[in-house]
Amino acid sequence: MDFFDYKDGVLHAEDVSLARIADEVGTPFYAYSAATLTRHFQVFDAAFSKWPHLVCYAMKANSNQAVLKLLTDLGAGLDIVSGGELARAKALEVPGGRIVFSGVGKTDEEMRAALDHGIRCFNVESVPELHRLSEVAQEMGKTAPVSIRVNPDVDAGTHEKINTGRKADKFGISYARARQVYAEAAALPGIAVRGVDMHIGSQITTLAPFEAAFGRMAALVEDLRKAGIAIRHVDLGGGLGVPYHGDNDIPPPPEEYAAMVERVLGSLDVEYVIEPGRLIAGNAGVLVGRVIYVKREEGHTFIITDLGMNDLIRPTLYEAFHHIRPVKEPAPDAPLAQADVVGPVCETGDYMARARMLPPLARGDLVAVMTAGAYGAVQSGTYNTRPLVPEVLVRGGDFAVVRPRLDAEQIVALDKLAPWQVRNP
Ligand SMILES: *Cc1c(COP(=O)(O)O)cnc(C)c1O
Repeated sequence: MDFFDYKDGVLHAEDVSLARIADEVGTPFYAYSAATLTRHFQVFDAAFSKWPHLVCYAMKANSNQAVLKLLTDLGAGLDIVSGGELARAKALEVPGGRIVFSGVGKTDEEMRAALDHGIRCFNVESVPELHRLSEVAQEMGKTAPVSIRVNPDVDAGTHEKINTGRKADKFGISYARARQVYAEAAALPGIAVRGVDMHIGSQITTLAPFEAAFGRMAALVEDLRKAGIAIRHVDLGGGLGVPYHGDNDIPPPPEEYAAMVERVLGSLDVEYVIEPGRLIAGNAGVLVGRVIYVKREEGHTFIITDLGMNDLIRPTLYEAFHHIRPVKEPAPDAPLAQADVVGPVCETGDYMARARMLPPLARGDLVAVMTAGAYGAVQSGTYNTRPLVPEVLVRGGDFAVVRPRLDAEQIVALDKLAPWQVRNP
């Protein structure tokens, strides 16, 4: 469900034509739909309304201040993975009590900043991190609330680069050692055990891997309680997928997911912390660009656009599929032909789509890369000294630029010559 549709022959975000945004902002740009973000958050949150819970939106999916403001105003907490993301939360005055901190490499500085802000929970990912957190908290005269990320050794069956819950993945501590590490944590000064935590991967579209993992977590919670360790919450991680394709990758509805959670964990009487990212932001955004050339070589068609891998790296990094839609609605009987949609960056991996059946496209046409709201703009960069892609938030018939384009002059100005270098006169 999203709010990107053709109206009067032009693709719109809610009531705003993407062609109009292109005229005013230039291309490429990301456009987010406030109504879609709102709907996704509310449907997910409502699925858990019967039980104590906090939805901590995983802001690494899309951390634009305007997106965070919209979601936190609706009642979202935040899952952060760096001091930088904490800074984004603090800039919006999100209370520490609504923030959980994940990630395998928290530095002393990040721990201090998070303790200082009084965050709800550190999701600790290793024994060395646990000890360091104990020391940092004691130095500050504080107690760090923790849950330990346990790796339930479940294969989420998703893409290699977003599978996180197997033994060989770098995240969390092993299930086999969990009881022992919890006992160690409970005895450490400066540490207060609050919950258990897991996150098995991303873009998971069936309930089975979650159910297997939650079952293991339920058994763990029971054992920990028997050992006298109080567990107040279970952090279920994120990971529910979105329909990039729309045929074989349709995720279960949030109500079914929540019902399964309650079936497996309900008897524990715990609070649920859930960390969805992609599910909230994924199909709330599109990336719009313009065709620069159409090139035909040896039976191959390349649609060369101004959309580079620096703007959206998902196709090349994860072999991700994104639908490509012409902004001008194609005629219903338009012939389809196979083409690669590529960018101008000097890399073979610089593409948005390969061997795709597309309606006719010509120089100057606008195209939209769909379902680009999560892990899109946050991974954008300026490789090839390409301007940093702007972001636009649409609400009804209004739109606002919520991150301006960083142009070449601004990017160049970030570099400095060393003091011993003199500019040529
Ligand atoms: C990335 C991440 C999430 C969010 O994952 P999605 O697939 O976007 O829902 C949640 N928790 C942790 C610890 C993560 O690293």
